[in-house]
Formats: sequence, structure tokens, C-alpha cells
Amino acid sequence: MSAAGPFIGGNRTDVGGVPVSTDHYIGGQRVASAATFDDRSPLDWSVKLADVSRGDAAIAEMAVSAAAEAFPEWAAMGVKGRGEVMRRVADLIDEHVPSLAAVECLDMAMLEESLRLRVLSRGARNFRAYAELAEQYEERVWSSNGTANRVMRMPAGPTVVITPWNAPFMLSTWKCAPALAAGNTVVLKPAEWSPLSCSLLADLCHEAGMPAGVFNVVQGIGEEVGGALVADPRLKRISFTGSPDTARHIGRAAAANIVPFTAELGGKGPFIVFADADLEAAAKKAAGQFDDSGQVCLAGTRLLVEASVRDEFLRLFHHFADQHVLGDSRDSATTISPMIHPDHAARVAGFVERARANGDTILRGGARSPLGGDDGLWYEPTLIEPRSNDSEVVQHEVFGPVLTFQTFADEAEAVHLANSTAYGLSAIVYTSSQQRAERMGRAVRAGTIWTNCFLVRDLTAPFGGCGISGIGREGGDYALDFYSDLKMFQVLDGTTA
Ligand code: NAD
Repeated sequence: MSAAGPFIGGNRTDVGGVPVSTDHYIGGQRVASAATFDDRSPLDWSVKLADVSRGDAAIAEMAVSAAAEAFPEWAAMGVKGRGEVMRRVADLIDEHVPSLAAVECLDMAMLEESLRLRVLSRGARNFRAYAELAEQYEERVWSSNGTANRVMRMPAGPTVVITPWNAPFMLSTWKCAPALAAGNTVVLKPAEWSPLSCSLLADLCHEAGMPAGVFNVVQGIGEEVGGALVADPRLKRISFTGSPDTARHIGRAAAANIVPFTAELGGKGPFIVFADADLEAAAKKAAGQFDDSGQVCLAGTRLLVEASVRDEFLRLFHHFADQHVLGDSRDSATTISPMIHPDHAARVAGFVERARANGDTILRGGARSPLGGDDGLWYEPTLIEPRSNDSEVVQHEVFGPVLTFQTFADEAEAVHLANSTAYGLSAIVYTSSQQRAERMGRAVRAGTIWTNCFLVRDLTAPFGGCGISGIGREGGDYALDFYSDLKMFQVLDGTTA
């Protein structure tokens, strides 16, 4: 971004050669808080990247006021007018992918090559595709009971979007783009562990000519500024991605003001491998899930393998897992990045220690990597065979490079194990049988089921979770419907001017 500017003032810190604002972005202006919080790089925890403005209730109030004030004009611009601005944002994202990748890699430690080649361009695609989808909406029209009936989509109003620390830029655009395309104004609160790339999104929206107050970014700690934001009675929508525990807090605030909210939450997906599957492809995909230190909500972290191919599958899995390279996420040879934060690394290590104490068998890994010395946040790719399906490491999301391994005797047991946690975000099934794939697709409880593939996603598909993996669906028209007030408009036949 350094090359293209222009920047919009405020306090800026050099992050990987990119001047990033550490302020909030409210009403088209940079706004600083007197208080700040430290933002450090997981690649080297001794390096402080930035002192970031620490928002409070007053900042939350200011941001929602800006969004409320900007709402009528943005809503009145219609899908075409909004689409023009959104396409300019998309072009700017594409243009600035290298700078965004450099910043997000330092801030969150996602593999830089994957950010540059895949993840960030999805942010641009979100803006472009939702502009187009909103324009393509066809009102449902029909006649009944002597009336002409139409379903209209109306912009809902100021919307708060709260996002987690993993893939912060892409996940934020995934939610902000449909909200904006639907005609809502947005206050985005990115996670305090990786806030910087979302600050750059504010620059790009500003540069694209988004009217002041339409898109706002508020920095800060979840319970402080996030809690104040979601409690504001002027909100018309809340969209949240993060953990089930935080969703419970936000759900209470949404209930108090009767505001619709969606929650995209954690996962504990089953990765089910039948004996008739292409075992090599399955093992490769399963071991590939250690990328980015397994900090992926959609991961199939519970490997469920048909007992008759246990040894062969494990041999292949170890073969592929052995090829991983722990290292600096800026290096293209690296496949396993450090974890986001020492607290998170301690949490992940705690799961493994308790599994060991519980009598679960560590089949590989199970220890911190010496990389980075005492401050290093790398953990060895770990596979655990639990003593029972009730083991904590089977039942709770670890969100690190830790997979579990269990076997099943037949399809019925595979389904039983797959559906045996409180989560239901995703599932992966490997089988060569189309009929079995159909049966599993119906029987397994999850928002998304991939058969013989993984992480292939179409933007127009519904996305969300069952159970404690979430409430509601986003993606495509499902997102546009969520961010709109659907209005039923009826006219008695024969009504004339
Ligand atoms: P988190 O719930 O701790 O935090 C998420 C966001 O909520 C952050 O911005 C945080 O500041 C904010 N927050 C925290 N407390 C708040 C409060 N009381 N009021 C308002 N906001 C508050 O989650 P995390 O640790 O950042 O992210 C990891 C979790 O996110 C994992 O469970 C992961 O599976 C999940 N996740 C889900 C998806 C999905 O699409 N389903 C995608 C990515 C991550």
C-alpha cells in the first residue's frame, strides 16, 4: 500500500513496509483513543508491531452514531450506486494484495504465500460478487386472493460485524460486503490479536469513495468496546464470527434489543475415511490440515477411519505429516506457522497435557517446537488416539495443530461418532461410493459436508453451523436476506391511480 496511498491521516506505524493506521476509522475520519493495546507478531513475540487504539463505550457510541447518520443516504443510493463503490473497493483490494499479505502475515502469521495467492483475493471477490448478487435480485411476484403480491428487500440499518483473529481480512469482507451491498451501514470490530489488515480495509473503502460513516472500524478489546457496540439499541443487525462462549454474550445483547444476529462459531468436524476411499488422497488432505497451525474452524479435526484400513491410513498420514515444515510464515517453504498468541499456545498445550493425563495415546507430536526459543509459538503437528469418545480432546475445539484418530467398524458407527459432539460446522467424507456419499450426506449433522474434497466453497452457497457451531446462514442470497428486511407488498387487484 505504500506505493499507492493516499492515506487518510491518523497515527501510522510501519508494518512490513506498509504504513498502517493504529486508530479507529469513524465517520470517514481517523480517531485515536488515549488508551492503547499492544499488538505483537506471532513470528517473533518480542517484536511489538503497534500500539493500537483501545476503544471504549464512547468510541462505540460515536461509531454507531456515524453509521446511523450515514444509513439513509447509503440505502437511498440503491443497489447500482452502492455496487459502483463496492467494485472500486474490490479493485483496490486486488491492487494491494502484496501489502495486505505482508501486514496480515506479520500480524496473524498466516502463510504469506497462501494469503497472496488465495485468501486475500477472496476479499475482493466478496465485494464484487455481493454487488452483483444484490443487483440480480428478482422480487418474487405472484397473485393470490385477489391481490398482486411482491417480496421486496429493504436495507435493514446500522449493522455491527465482529470478527475473530484467524483470516481477519477475508472473514471481515465475507460479512461486511453483503451487509453493505444490502444497503446497511457497518461498524466492524476486528479481533484484538490481529487488527491491522482491517485497518487497511478502512483505507481502501475511503479511497474507493465510500461515503463517510458507511463503513467504520473500531479497535479494542472484545468485552470492552465489543460489548458496548452490541448493546446499542440503534443496531438493526449483528453478525458475529468467533467462539460459542462469546456468542452467548452477544446473543443476550441481541435478545435485549430484539436484533437479528448470525453466529458463525467453532467446529469439531469429523474427517471420515471409508476403506473403499482413495486412501492416499484422504491421508494427504487430513495431514494438510496442520497448515496455519490448524487454526481453521472448518477443519475436520476428528479423523474417523474404517478399522480395516487403520494401519495403511496411519502409514500414509505419517508420510504426509512428515513433510510439513515449521517455520517463518513469510518463507514459501514453510507449511506450519506459529500460533497466534502465547495464551492460545498455552491453551492448545493444555489440551494435549490433559489428554496425556487422561490416558489418551499421543501417536505423533505432543510437544512445543524448540523453534523461536522460549517465546516461540510453534507446536509439533500432533495426532492423538483417545481412550474414549468422551475424551476432552475429542469433544472440544482445540483450534491448533492437534487432530484425533478413531476407528469405526461400519457406516452406522461412523455416523454415530460423527454426530457425537455438540458442534456441527463441517464434515469431510472420503468414499468411492456415490450411494454411501448420499447416505452420509443426509445422516451427518453439519452445515457443510465435503465428499472427497475439502474447503471448496462457492460464495452463493449457504454457510453456517448446526448445534453450537452457529445460528443462521450467510453466503450468497442467504446473507443478503439476513442483512435485509424482507417486506411483503400487496395490492388489491383492480387498484388504479
Ligand atoms: P472470540 O469469540 O474470543 O472473539 C471473536 C471476536 O469477538 C473478537 O473480535 C473479540 O474481540 C470479540 N469479543 C469477545 N468478547 C466479546 C464481547 N463480550 N462482546 C462483543 N465482542 C466480543 O473468538 P476468537 O478466539 O477470536 O476466534 C476463534 C474462534 O472463532 C474459534 O472458535 C473458531 O472456530 C471460530 N471461527 C469460526 C468461523 C466460522 O466461520 N464458523 C470462522 C473463523 C473462526
